[in-house]
Amino acid sequence: MIPKKYQLFVVVFTILCLIVTMVGLYSLHNRHDKRQLITAVIGVGVENITHADFINRIIKNTNFKSRDRVRIFLGPYQPLLGLDGFILNDSLDYYILIDWGFYFSLEEGEKEALIAHELGHKIYRPSLIENIQLDIIHELRGYIDLKTRHNQITTKYQTKADTFAAEKTSPEKVISVLNKIRMDKSGYDYKMRLKNLQKIQQGH
Ligand SMILES: [Zn+2]
Repeated sequence: MIPKKYQLFVVVFTILCLIVTMVGLYSLHNRHDKRQLITAVIGVGVENITHADFINRIIKNTNFKSRDRVRIFLGPYQPLLGLDGFILNDSLDYYILIDWGFYFSLEEGEKEALIAHELGHKIYRPSLIENIQLDIIHELRGYIDLKTRHNQITTKYQTKADTFAAEKTSPEKVISVLNKIRMDKSGYDYKMRLKNLQKIQQGH
């Protein structure tokens, strides 16, 4: 039992330790040199400007900052990174990277649904705590199995981006993109995302 006069000190000290740990982990999260990564991934791609009007329309109707620029690059992202589509940003621009084979397999409306989904990630991002959790899980992978929490966080934001895309295009288009993305169709992420989109569809 801690003597009463030290109890406040222990509480304050614990809170301070927690703050220092959080700040430390957060700076670790931001440490990675994003610029280099972005230069590398856009370097293997080709810029595509055919969706500029669609992107501008979404940006105008959503509270994006006016200085934000969104650029699309098509490249061999599935063979290189195992991804059909993703979004990256530096302090100036947002880059939507789409595997070119995947891009050309989509119909026009599906392309827009995919782009809207990626823009949804720009609006809905994991919180500071969630980012720290994802970092810790990433560091601990192989030691303990934290897949469930990791999946919960990532699926939560995939679902938010899907909902955004469904509003900007249609739930049907987002579902057909989801079915074309090369992902584990028996996995948690796919099932939860499909369920969410079907719920939106029924609400229409
Ligand atoms: Zn996504």
